Amino acid sequence: MRTPMVAGNWKMNTTLAEATALAEELRAALSPVKGVGLLVCPPFVSLATVSGALAGSGIAVGAQNMHPEAKGAFTGEVSGPMLTGLATHVILGHSERRHLLGEDDSLIATKVRSALGLGLTPVLCVGETLVQRESGKAEAVVAGQLAAGLAGLDAGAIGRVVVAYEPVWAIGTGRAATPVIAQAMMGAVRYELTRLSHVDTAQSMPLLYGGSVNPANAAELAAQEDIDGALVGGASLVAAQFAAIATAFAARAAR
Ligand code: PEP
Repeated sequence: MRTPMVAGNWKMNTTLAEATALAEELRAALSPVKGVGLLVCPPFVSLATVSGALAGSGIAVGAQNMHPEAKGAFTGEVSGPMLTGLATHVILGHSERRHLLGEDDSLIATKVRSALGLGLTPVLCVGETLVQRESGKAEAVVAGQLAAGLAGLDAGAIGRVVVAYEPVWAIGTGRAATPVIAQAMMGAVRYELTRLSHVDTAQSMPLLYGGSVNPANAAELAAQEDIDGALVGGASLVAAQFAAIATAFAARAAR
């Protein structure tokens, strides 16, 4: 039985004061939610404060990105060693970094290896664009992103990665993938993970769906075989909404 997981990506939202207030609201709203791994990923500058506000709550804190090098002349960047002690997870390969900031698969793979080497859990995001979907390439694109992002890792290391399937056309659009499409894609993700590692590894890995998840669609997504959790953007900024989504996935733990 895989433990469900619900993660919030706050993106470039919240001032320090707002992040602190949101962490405190989440702490209260999520306290009744049991059996779900909970993660929030605030902006870098709020990591220390949010970690403090959530200490002892069972809610993990992650970063939204990291540089693959440990240190050096990379103005404005944040390295993995800088995150240790502040974050347990790091989102890598988010579509906004792939498509708006030009990150490619080989850079993302370097980051994944670097994060694992530091004991940080990568949340590796993969997903196709609308053009790729409409031209029948969705599964091939996602399989390629997985193979590239996990290149050079053995089954044990792959098993320490959390994979999030996030179709680009569903992120921030209010147009979530239907449960049927999401399940089909995430079944294909698990198949690819089996091919890249081992059936036991792939079966043990929680897979997250991301793209316009909200309290109204979470239960139907959570009912799908291969959707173990969610990576939530917009709705993670409202404590009651994030808690409702987490509760929907808690039902999965109970079944
Ligand atoms: C995301 O940022 O990863 C995301 C899925 O955003 P949203 O939930 O707003 O679509």
